[in-house]
Amino acid sequence: MKRPALTLNTTAMLLLTIFLGLLGGHALANRQPWALTCYDCKACGAACALGIDPQGFVAAQLANDPDLPIYATNIRLNVRKALALDPELEITRGERHLPLRQAVTQFGLAPSEEVVTYRMKARHAAALCLECAACEKACVLELPLLRAIRQLKAPQPAGATHAK
Ligand code: SF4
Ligand code: SF4
Repeated sequence: MKRPALTLNTTAMLLLTIFLGLLGGHALANRQPWALTCYDCKACGAACALGIDPQGFVAAQLANDPDLPIYATNIRLNVRKALALDPELEITRGERHLPLRQAVTQFGLAPSEEVVTYRMKARHAAALCLECAACEKACVLELPLLRAIRQLKAPQPAGATHAK
């Protein structure tokens, strides 16, 4: 009984170490090592007038994935602009959250109609961010969130997986 438990624990520790190593590697590669210290308390999210969860920007840096979906629950866009951004971004319609493309078909939304976003790719939320810095001021660790936002906002170099 002891040997299987030891093997399981060792494997779990090994996987955890690899996972943390990957996060650290991405944070360093993106020149945002501070991202490792964010502990997901969400204090920054409460400060954003656009309903963006800035911790999502940190997560995108750690995952090295600018397309990571993050919450942005209060951005108002007309359908035309939202479709140009990403037809798969999620919007809020009544009590439901659904992809924009599906909502357009299902409810016959006109191009000029306004929709309220719910979740979108991190780089799109960064592009719409007002850079008001309210999230930075609310961060209990005073993390430089605008650095992550501006990096995600920057154009992607050809072949790169992350904005530099
Ligand atoms: S800078 Fe302002 S708009 Fe952008 S995520 Fe932070 S609080 Fe929201
Ligand atoms: S307030 Fe700071 S520590 Fe907390 S989730 Fe936001 S960025 Fe991370």
